[in-house]
Amino acid sequence: MGKAIDFFSQPVHAPVQEFQLPAFDQADVSVWIKREDLIHPFVSGNKWRKLKYNLMEAETQEKRSLLTFGGAYSNHLVAVAAAAACCGFMSKGFVRGDEKPRNHMLYLCETFGMELIYVDRTTYKDKEALTQQKITETTYVLDEGGTNALAVEGCAEIAAEVNQHFDHVFAACGTGGTLAGLAKGFATSAPQTQVHGIAVLKNGGFLKEVVESFVPGLLNWQLHLNEHKGGYGKTSPELLRLIQETAADTGILFDQVYTAKVLMALLRMLDAGEINRGSKILLLHTGGALGYLSQHG
Ligand SMILES: *Cc1c(COP(=O)(O)O)cnc(C)c1O
Repeated sequence: MGKAIDFFSQPVHAPVQEFQLPAFDQADVSVWIKREDLIHPFVSGNKWRKLKYNLMEAETQEKRSLLTFGGAYSNHLVAVAAAAACCGFMSKGFVRGDEKPRNHMLYLCETFGMELIYVDRTTYKDKEALTQQKITETTYVLDEGGTNALAVEGCAEIAAEVNQHFDHVFAACGTGGTLAGLAKGFATSAPQTQVHGIAVLKNGGFLKEVVESFVPGLLNWQLHLNEHKGGYGKTSPELLRLIQETAADTGILFDQVYTAKVLMALLRMLDAGEINRGSKILLLHTGGALGYLSQHG
C-alpha cells in the first residue's frame, strides 16, 4: 500500500468533548468542542482533512513532489511539509514576504525538509507564473490554503464523526474549504444543523461564492463577515486574554488567527441573544495552536 493511503487511512482521534465556560451557563446553552487539533501535531486539524484526498490522489498519479504557497505564518505550509515527509513526497513552498522572514513556522517547514522559496508580495500574486518556474511532470500543486474539491471531500467527513445532534456548528473560515465541507457533511448526516463560518479576514464577501461553488443549493450554512477583529492576523489584548484564560481554565489552546476568533464570535452572539437559550452548540477546533507562539517573540 502507498504511504499516503496508509497515513491517511489510520483511524482519526478527534473526540467531541464537553466545553464549559461560565458564559455558556449564563446563556443557558451547552457547548461541545471537536478536537480536530488532536489529529496530528503538525498536520493539524482541518489541514489533515484537506490534504487527505489530495495526497492520496498525488500518490495515485505517481507524483513525487508537492508544490504550494503560503504566508510567513502559514499553518498550511507546515502541514504540507510534515505530511509530505510522512508520505514520502518532497515538498517546495513559495513564501510571501518582502524580506526573508524567519520564524518558528518556517523553521518547522525546513526541518520537515521543505524547500522554501521567498518571493515579494507582487511576484507572489502571480501564482501561475511561479508554478511554471518549478513544476515538472512529477509535481502535484496545492493552492494556498489547500482548498479544492478533494479538500472539501475530506472536510465533509468531519460531520460523520459527530454522533449527537447539534443545533449549531461553528468553525473558522479562511478560504472556505472547511465551511463547504462541513455544509456538505452535515447536510447528509444532520440536515437540521446550522453551520456557521466565522470569516477571519476583512472583506470576506467572496467566500460566499467560493462555498456556493462547492455546495450549490445548500442552505444549511451561513457566513459571519464582521467577526474578524480588524483583519487577517490582527489581534487585540482582549483576544489574547481570552486565549490565555481559556487555556488556563480548560487546558485547550486556541490561536489568535483562527480559533480564538470563533470563540470570541460565539461569546458575542450569546451575549447579544442571537442564539436561542437551550441550544446545543459544537465548536470545531480546527488546529493551528502553534500559531499562538508567534505572540511570544
Ligand atoms: C487554515 C485554517 C483554517 C481555515 O480553513 P479554510 O478551509 O481555509 O477556510 C481554519 N482554522 C485553522 C486553525 C487553520 O489553520
